[in-house]
Amino acid sequence: AKNRGRDRWDAVDTGLRKAAAERLDLESQLRAAITDGELELHFQPIVGLLGRNVIGREALVRWRHPQRGLMPPITFLPVAEESGLIVELGTWVLRAAVQAAASSPHPGYVAVNVSPNQMIRPGLADQVEKALAESGLPAGQLVLELTESVMLSAAPSARQEIERLHGIGVRIVVDDFGTGFSALSYLRDLPVSGIKVDRSFTSGLGEDPQCDRIVEALIGLGHGLGIDVIVEGVETEAQSALLAGIGVEHAQGYLFGKPSPRYELLTA
Ligand code: C2E
Ligand code: CA
Ligand code: CA
Ligand code: CA
Repeated sequence: AKNRGRDRWDAVDTGLRKAAAERLDLESQLRAAITDGELELHFQPIVGLLGRNVIGREALVRWRHPQRGLMPPITFLPVAEESGLIVELGTWVLRAAVQAAASSPHPGYVAVNVSPNQMIRPGLADQVEKALAESGLPAGQLVLELTESVMLSAAPSARQEIERLHGIGVRIVVDDFGTGFSALSYLRDLPVSGIKVDRSFTSGLGEDPQCDRIVEALIGLGHGLGIDVIVEGVETEAQSALLAGIGVEHAQGYLFGKPSPRYELLTA
């Protein structure tokens, strides 16, 4: 029995080693992928709910892995976050997104996701200014999506970055709105131009009355503050109609367009 216990621990140990080795492997592959051009951006339209006109596009990163194929962000962003590679990855995404928008004749904005770890060290505003200058994209055509956790924990340096970005005309939108807050003070203290109501609320629309009430309340809050409200994850006409009925102006979701490697796929 003693031996069998030993064997079992050996097996666990081997498993852990293997997992750690795979993680390290992925990390070094990702490091190379950033410089070797294996990352790409897909763009998903953000539309006016009534006219279905494209007002902007969200840039979503993918990794075209030579062996594993097209990898969604969930498979490599956690490794990027833990290893610190997110800073390099974030810089690449920002430049590529701004470049894509600048090369398009379409006047809509491009929205770029910014991870909490990108806000920890100062320099984002500098980076953004540089990317805008390099590409010639007007600051008004760039939106940065920051999660609630960033807004809530916003350290003095992060606050300064946000203020500076606002100062140069870049808009800040709060992503995944409604999923994490226990305080809304940041909506008062920071220059926020919009909120994106999380997809988790959209799926229950029209089916779960509680869900409808919550979405209505979140939208009322946004409108009351005079900021833009975007609802994400809209997949059905029923959801779209319901949202239009409660005054939502902007939305995103498979109903209007899936993320696509082509920036211009939807120009309606
Ligand atoms: P997110 O910012 O909330 O982005 C929306 C996610 O929902 C995207 O998944 C999008 O493809 C998906 N989606 C959009 N419409 C629908 C819909 O109607 N139904 C369903 N079921 N899903 C929909 P994706 O591209 O896999 O990205 C996942 C998350 O990864 C993003 O969530 C964002 O947090 C993160 N992410 C993606 N690109 C970047 C990036 O360049 N930088 C950083 N820091 N994070 C990124
Ligand atoms: Ca987002
Ligand atoms: Ca979101
Ligand atoms: Ca989300």
